[in-house]
Amino acid sequence: MKLLVIGGGWAGLAAAVRAVQRGAEVTLWEMAAQAGGRARSWQAEGRWLDSGQHILIGAYRDTLKLMREVGAEPELLLQRLPLTLVDAQGQGLRWGRGGPLGAAFGAVQGHTGWGWRERLGLVVWGSRLALRGLRCPAHWSVERLCQGLPNAVREELVEPLCVAALNTRIEEASATVFLRVLRDALFSGPGGSDLLLPRVPLQALLPDPALVWLRAHGASVQLGRRAQQLQALNEGWACDDWQGDAIVLACSAHEAQRLAAHGAPQWARWPLRHEAIATVELELPGGPRLPAPMVALRGAPAQFLFDIPGDGRYVAVASAVAAELADGLQPLAERMEQQVKAQLPALRAARRVNQHADRRATFACVAGVARPPQMLRPGLVAAGDYVEGPYPATLEGAVSSGVAAAAHLLGTIRST
Ligand SMILES: Cc1cc2nc3c(=O)[nH]c(=O)nc-3n(C[C@H](O)[C@H](O)[C@H](O)COP(=O)(O)OP(=O)(O)OC[C@H]3O[C@@H](n4cnc5c(N)ncnc54)[C@H](O)[C@@H]3O)c2cc1C
Repeated sequence: MKLLVIGGGWAGLAAAVRAVQRGAEVTLWEMAAQAGGRARSWQAEGRWLDSGQHILIGAYRDTLKLMREVGAEPELLLQRLPLTLVDAQGQGLRWGRGGPLGAAFGAVQGHTGWGWRERLGLVVWGSRLALRGLRCPAHWSVERLCQGLPNAVREELVEPLCVAALNTRIEEASATVFLRVLRDALFSGPGGSDLLLPRVPLQALLPDPALVWLRAHGASVQLGRRAQQLQALNEGWACDDWQGDAIVLACSAHEAQRLAAHGAPQWARWPLRHEAIATVELELPGGPRLPAPMVALRGAPAQFLFDIPGDGRYVAVASAVAAELADGLQPLAERMEQQVKAQLPALRAARRVNQHADRRATFACVAGVARPPQMLRPGLVAAGDYVEGPYPATLEGAVSSGVAAAAHLLGTIRST
């Protein structure tokens, strides 16, 4: 089968690698100068910059498998830590090793900031959810799911986890998708809830090794090449000067909808709402190490502060901030800086060296949201973190969608 993959983000790379493994003749076009999409890095003034602070978890099964397949060793490239949700003073939840329920129970017991009411409230709530198989009606929001949970637990545990995983506020976020993430993290096997923090620029985690692997296995890869127009043929598909059997639209939702406007007009009109993420980087040479590599911040707008190893760099991340960005990035970045300095006086002298907002960081994962299906027409499929699937917009969502796209096509069209 002759296949074109449009887009070299993590979904497109996953689709291309899987299709090559199944014997397809693969061409990959990526419009940027490097692959990786929203999870990529580039060099500026002699150092690597990532497109955004990313964390993975141990339950990212498809992503970790793909990394290994293209020769990128997760054990070397990612720092693995037991799930730790502590504040700037180091107080909070630290998951231990062992079975999921024992580890969770130990973490709750060890939270010195919570009284018996919070601890008991969490145990009762968690047990009730577990008895229901961590499932709930599709229209429930995470806020609805939290009914009966003590406020402190909601604010210090559920809210930050939900916003980090779904990039959507709990008032609107889909409880079904949130529970799916919890189920995978807690019950997918040992280490599923571990945090995996990149030790290297994002480029080295998957995009660069995947390109090397694809080229070595005969795929044609063109960077800086933007797909312009699709056309359905009597047999197969064409895109610009390419013709073949099938196409994977692994570009952004916006571009996929533009390209599909004639071939699949209904799909192209599918309504999608996006959410934003803002990032602020602070620098303080010789600055202190934080109590954990990832520290939860109280209040708003930022949820987490990351301690970047090496040279006194700290990255604050504010998720689900589409509304806050209405007045522009500058005031939001100032609030994020003030929030960090108020909670970590040791960083008062830190300098803001970088700020960035991605207004279309992810789709808004709201309760009951209907996502566009993977299959558009025979021989035309979509892959990406926004496409119908069980996961929120994450690297794992993107990779598993790419893997599914390749499996789908190579299952329905005979290899030639
Ligand atoms: C700031 C930020 C922080 C995040 N943090 C996390 C995190 O901590 N953990 C996590 O798991 N996920 C995180 N995510 C989400 C994660 O980055 C995405 O889910 C994932 O990268 C999406 O991959 P994708 O391949 O679906 O889409 P994209 O990465 O958007 O890839 C699409 C690609 O298609 C290309 N393209 C577009 N149009 C065309 C065209 N016409 N022709 C050719 N190429 C085209 C684009 O250039 C791009 O490279 C974060 C995202 C952001 C923005």
